[in-house]
Amino acid sequence: MIRTGTTPSGIAVIGATGSVGGAVLDVCRSFPDRFHVSALSGLSNVSRMTALVKEFSPELVSMCDPEAAASLKRLVPPGTKVLSGIDSLTDVALFPGTDQVVFASSGTAAIPALMSALEAGRSVSLANKESLVIAGPWVMPLVRSKDQMRPLDSEHNAVWQCLSGETDRSIQSILLTASGGPFRAMGTRELERVTPRMALKHPVWAMGAKITVDSATLMNKGLEILEAMQLFRLPAGKVRAIVHPQSLVHGMVLFSDCTMKWLLSSPDMRIPAAVALAYPERLQIEDAALEFPPLETLSLSFEEPDLKRFPCLSIAMEAARTGGATPALLVGADDIAVKAFLEGQLSFTAIPGLIEQVLTSYPGPSPTSAEEAIAIMEWSKRKALEILCPGKPSRRSIS
Ligand code: NDP
Ligand code: MG
Repeated sequence: MIRTGTTPSGIAVIGATGSVGGAVLDVCRSFPDRFHVSALSGLSNVSRMTALVKEFSPELVSMCDPEAAASLKRLVPPGTKVLSGIDSLTDVALFPGTDQVVFASSGTAAIPALMSALEAGRSVSLANKESLVIAGPWVMPLVRSKDQMRPLDSEHNAVWQCLSGETDRSIQSILLTASGGPFRAMGTRELERVTPRMALKHPVWAMGAKITVDSATLMNKGLEILEAMQLFRLPAGKVRAIVHPQSLVHGMVLFSDCTMKWLLSSPDMRIPAAVALAYPERLQIEDAALEFPPLETLSLSFEEPDLKRFPCLSIAMEAARTGGATPALLVGADDIAVKAFLEGQLSFTAIPGLIEQVLTSYPGPSPTSAEEAIAIMEWSKRKALEILCPGKPSRRSIS
């Protein structure tokens, strides 16, 4: 431990029951003298949340799903405040005694809570990429200093660290690395036979199902390009992706004087989580699993992404150039396409086609507020469902 005898920072975690939320809580667990978990939020996983409440004793817990909240209430100590509904995310984000709010939920439900946390001057660690892809133009102006918004996504966390002490105008370009996913070396024919089970086996990272499939199609890297443009306020041409199968380099910045900074670490989300939570200090991590491998064992390789075999990346890059309603449409269509693939309704290679169909059928204007951008994303989900099941009104939940 690098600091003892001080008051622990209050940490609220939205998306506490998920994969990246778990990495954040692991850091809190390892450094109880540094971090106190003040509030937790999830959607519906009652058993996991019950275990977290037992371990961390937060004062406030929210389950977005009201039935889940009612069940949780019966299982936690009587002093624990349990809230439900989408507005409860804002209660968590603004809960007194919280110094930093971690946004680690999937989807877009936490966008209003993120904006409230920033408006209230709270430090924010952001893993959720959908919020910036959809609502970046309205979220980023609320950020008062570079340190208030700490990126948790590993590539963005790496770039953020590379940019420490640098001025924005000296950035020539940013490179985000991609492992290439499980099908990096697969031919087009084989890609047609990819099953959900195969796509859910990521070669490097253990993550939630949606982002794992997005990593296999390279849509995840496309969304990350859009996320980086918002976070670092850069135009489309200045952010690109490079495939790096070892996933040891996470982000690179090329500066105007031809200098390049790379950020390397073992591929484990607990590392960027520790960086963001402890900033500007660094934690003393003593965990063999997180140690950087011996340099003499390393062989780092890089290759251009194959946009023909992985057209989702190309679609996202085009969305980055087009802007307007396209990023919100992309998020909505991809969400439905991935769900349909996981449910066996859509083949792996049909994912980009569905997304493109939705993008080209949008008749409306560009959004002028976060609310409008979210509405466009919802329209995109409904359109994707209509294309999947023509003639049927969409009965399925699009939350
Ligand atoms: P998971 O599917 O593992 O977890 C999602 C979490 O969000 C769960 O805790 C879920 O609750 C919660 N959640 C979903 N909807 C709501 C809601 N309406 N209100 C409150 N909580 C909600 O996803 P990941 O952890 O993999 O990813 C989360 C986000 O972080 C995504 O945006 C992803 O792109 C990003 N990210 C993830 C990384 C990773 O390593 N996993 C790396 C970088 C970024 P419940 O369990 O109850 O359903
Ligand atoms: Mg990432």
